[in-house]
Amino acid sequence: MITIALSKGRIFEETLPLLKAAGICVLDDPDTSRKLILQTNHSDVRVLVVRATDVPTYVQYGGADMGITGKDTLLEHGCQGLYQPIDLHIAKCRISVAVRSDFDYVKAVKQGSRLTVATKYVSISREFFASKGVHVDLIKLYGSMELAPLVGMADAIVDLVSTGNTLKANHLTEVECIMDISSRLIVNQAALKLKQAPIRRIMDALELAVGT
Ligand code: AMP
Repeated sequence: MITIALSKGRIFEETLPLLKAAGICVLDDPDTSRKLILQTNHSDVRVLVVRATDVPTYVQYGGADMGITGKDTLLEHGCQGLYQPIDLHIAKCRISVAVRSDFDYVKAVKQGSRLTVATKYVSISREFFASKGVHVDLIKLYGSMELAPLVGMADAIVDLVSTGNTLKANHLTEVECIMDISSRLIVNQAALKLKQAPIRRIMDALELAVGT
C-alpha cells in the first residue's frame, strides 16, 4: 500500500491532474465526502486528507509514504527524515512582508527601529529579518494575519501573497518579497527504501507530468 498525504484546497485541486497523468485517479471528492482516507483507482494507492501544516508530520512519522506540501510549510516544519525529490511547480505564490499603507517601512528599517511582526511563519521571518540585521519581535498567529497591523498589534505581517487582493482589501502594502513558494513532493526516507519500486514509479510519473 502506498499512502499519499494531501491537504484540501489549492494543493489538492492542482495535484489531481498530476496524479491523473501518473495514472492515479482519486475516487472521492474531499469537499463533499467526510472521508479522511480516499480510495483511488489503484487498490494499493490511497490518499489521506490532512491539514496543510500536518502533511510533513504525517510523512516524517510514516503515517504517509509521501505527500505534497508548500515550501513555506516545509521550511517552518524542518526537513528531518524527508526526501524532497520534485518541485511540482503548483500552488505558486510568494511569501512577503506587508505593512499598513501609511507605515513607512523603509524609514523604520533604515532607522534601526524594532519592528513587531505578526506571522504564522515564525522561523522564516526570524531568519529573514536576522539576515537583514533588523530587530524584530515576532507574534505567532494561525490565520487572518492581515488584522494585526490594522488593530495596532503589529507593524508588519509576513504572509503568503498570490494576487495581492487580500492585502489590498485590507489596506496593506507588500513591501518586500522574502521568497517564491511552490509545492513539493516529499517522501519518507525509510518508505523510499522499503517500497522503492512503487514509490519510484509514482515519482517518475509525477516528474514526467510536471515536465509536460
Ligand atoms: P491573494 O489575495 O491572492 O494574494 O491571496 C492571499 C491569501 O491567500 C492569503 O490569506 C494567503 O495566506 C492565501 N494564499 C495565497 N496563496 C496561497 C497558497 N499557495 N497556499 C496557501 N494559501 C495561499
